[in-house]
Amino acid sequence: MHEFSITGSMIEILERIIAEKKLKKVESVCLEINPLASIEPESVKFYFDFLTKENKLLKGARLVFNKKSLAVVCKKCGNEFESDDIFSGCPECGEISGCKTDNLDDDDIRIVSLVAV
Ligand SMILES: [Zn+2]
Repeated sequence: MHEFSITGSMIEILERIIAEKKLKKVESVCLEINPLASIEPESVKFYFDFLTKENKLLKGARLVFNKKSLAVVCKKCGNEFESDDIFSGCPECGEISGCKTDNLDDDDIRIVSLVAV
């Protein structure tokens, strides 16, 4: 149900953009997912199709998901690196449990761009 409310608010934002830009039909939407938010892209797709069934502007739009990279600092050796998975471990020393990230407070899902006519 986590994804259901997220998808609902995402559609609200999309509808606002559509109204502002006077778009006729959205073909695809590029989304960025916070790797820490445990969102299933398949669930978002499912709810999106369900919620836009009657929506001429959004129905059939393709959702493209990007996983966002996280800035990670290794607690063991201080190495800074980017990763889309906090459990991937430090590329320098291999430490897994000691990694932390700074952007924990970001949105779960963000609309990056959309293609429309
Ligand atoms: Zn390290």
